[in-house]
Amino acid sequence: MNSSHGRTGGSELRRWLDKLPKAELHLHLEGAIPLDALWALIQKYGGDPSVPTETHLRQRLTYSDFPDFIETWIWKNSFLRTYDDFSFIAEKVAQDLLRQNILYAELFFSPSRFADRGLTTIGLAKAIRSGLGRVSGCEIWLIADLVRDHGPIQAAITLTEVATARHYGIVGIGIGGSEHKFPPEPFAELYAEARRLGFKTSAHAGEASGADSVRGAIDSLLVDRIGHATRAEEDPELMQLLADRQIPVELCPLSNVATGV
Ligand SMILES: [Zn+2]
Repeated sequence: MNSSHGRTGGSELRRWLDKLPKAELHLHLEGAIPLDALWALIQKYGGDPSVPTETHLRQRLTYSDFPDFIETWIWKNSFLRTYDDFSFIAEKVAQDLLRQNILYAELFFSPSRFADRGLTTIGLAKAIRSGLGRVSGCEIWLIADLVRDHGPIQAAITLTEVATARHYGIVGIGIGGSEHKFPPEPFAELYAEARRLGFKTSAHAGEASGADSVRGAIDSLLVDRIGHATRAEEDPELMQLLADRQIPVELCPLSNVATGV
């Protein structure tokens, strides 16, 4: 087969994939903002000298390593300032999902990252649900990321706020962020409380840390499923445990390539 056949085959596969109805179980609202929507937000707030054009913005969203990714993530969040901004990105993300024929999604959002702007968890949940409601055809539920970088005490405070906002379609909780600095074990009581409140649980593990972190999420947090879990493959016994207990993993290979973990 020559290269032109290869390209044709690839584009046929791509068309087939595009048309296939799909579900998305690991997506961060603030990480999935379409480029033109993020560009519009940056312009709304007067632009940023580090990204004079949309091309520069695209380049800025490539990462040298995981800490660079986290730093860029926080920079990008600085353009999410009002509830209207969250309604705006929720609408744009829902449109983007529908464009890919994704008909069901569970979407992380990280309320405590915006507390210093005076944005409340319940206000954010309401704004996000309002934006999602402008798009029909994709069923979307929310998962609150309790942000491991803020520690278990702040996460517990956020959890109580999440419980009051659950009627906006919050079905679960998780911890994302700097896994290599914040292992799962100190969050055990937080997860027990989340279960008592009736939330499903997920945790990022085996992304920026190794197999021990995945084991910690299973043994200490008793998670329903695991975000990434890529590095579980370093430990054959752990792989068997995942299989025996039928714990689903949300593999994110494109994310791993982009963030270098
Ligand atoms: Zn994630």
